[in-house]
Amino acid sequence: MKISMWYNNKDIRMEDVPTPTPGRNEILVKVMSCGICGSDIVEWYRLPRAPLVLGHEIGGEIVEVGGSVKNFRPGNRVFVAPKVPCMTCDYCKNGHYPVCSNIKDRLPGGFAEYVLVPESLVEKGTYRLPDNVTFDQSTFIEPLACVVRAQRLAGVKKDQTVMIIGCGMSGLLHIKLAKQKKCRVIATDINEKRLETARQIGADLTINAKEDVPERLIAENTKKADVVMLCASALSAVEQAWKCVDKGGAVVFFAVPGPKSVVTIPINDFWTKEIRIITSYYCGPPDIVDAIKLVESGQIKVDDMITHKLPLKDTAKGFQLVMDGHKSLKVIIKPNA
Ligand SMILES: [Zn+2]
Ligand SMILES: [Zn+2]
Repeated sequence: MKISMWYNNKDIRMEDVPTPTPGRNEILVKVMSCGICGSDIVEWYRLPRAPLVLGHEIGGEIVEVGGSVKNFRPGNRVFVAPKVPCMTCDYCKNGHYPVCSNIKDRLPGGFAEYVLVPESLVEKGTYRLPDNVTFDQSTFIEPLACVVRAQRLAGVKKDQTVMIIGCGMSGLLHIKLAKQKKCRVIATDINEKRLETARQIGADLTINAKEDVPERLIAENTKKADVVMLCASALSAVEQAWKCVDKGGAVVFFAVPGPKSVVTIPINDFWTKEIRIITSYYCGPPDIVDAIKLVESGQIKVDDMITHKLPLKDTAKGFQLVMDGHKSLKVIIKPNA
């Protein structure tokens, strides 16, 4: 089978490897759609494991199942999570699924014609797709689950002002989910085209990040934001977040500035204002279930964010499109198109 091997963002090669055969408790999935995630292009995060096959937003069809697999059969349409928590360790019991201490298997990357799903993921990480959810739509399940989790941790609820800093793919999903929760949503970005998209999908107010964001926020919204969701990695974005959060509010680090950056927290000011700083990394099984329901029910519409569908051989082009953020929103690789 063909795979797309990632060495770094500028060096992605098509390679041939034997198509795997499932063992007794494994399944083989033909990858129909696999999204390129914003985190796929973050080299400092990915390089330690390179070369590797990336792609964790996978929708596909089961083509072969091992002899002992009971719950699935060839022809089933599925979403497969990239990894699953054990649900029994102390971290899992407290809802910190992303830091489970017993994660042993990872799903191979989806920028490949097929993926072999290991036993633990067949048991707990493979979800049947509802009939009305397309393979392309299924690539949003994992990123939406991460968004669901972050807003849950922040306690986002009706009538709150939610500010989204950075209108890339995850920022846009945050806008959609916050609007679905009936929040007032303010979005910022340095890119006018992205701000236009943010308005089209429902943001109540957009502010170019080059302006004095806190000043415009107060002028147009009368108060600061109850939740500030950081979906950008620039240090200047963090500075804006500090200045835009209201008393009793929360700043959520959905994206981080990177390992070499030092962030200074105005902690004395925040202490007297009861401002929380929250991190949110990845998602857990309950978030995936919620995300599937949101897509299935149409409460979160995703088709309007798909801008590119490319064959596997154009994976490098897809990465370039995601890196040049203004030319694309969601880029989907179709390994079997
Ligand atoms: Zn992702
Ligand atoms: Zn665990």
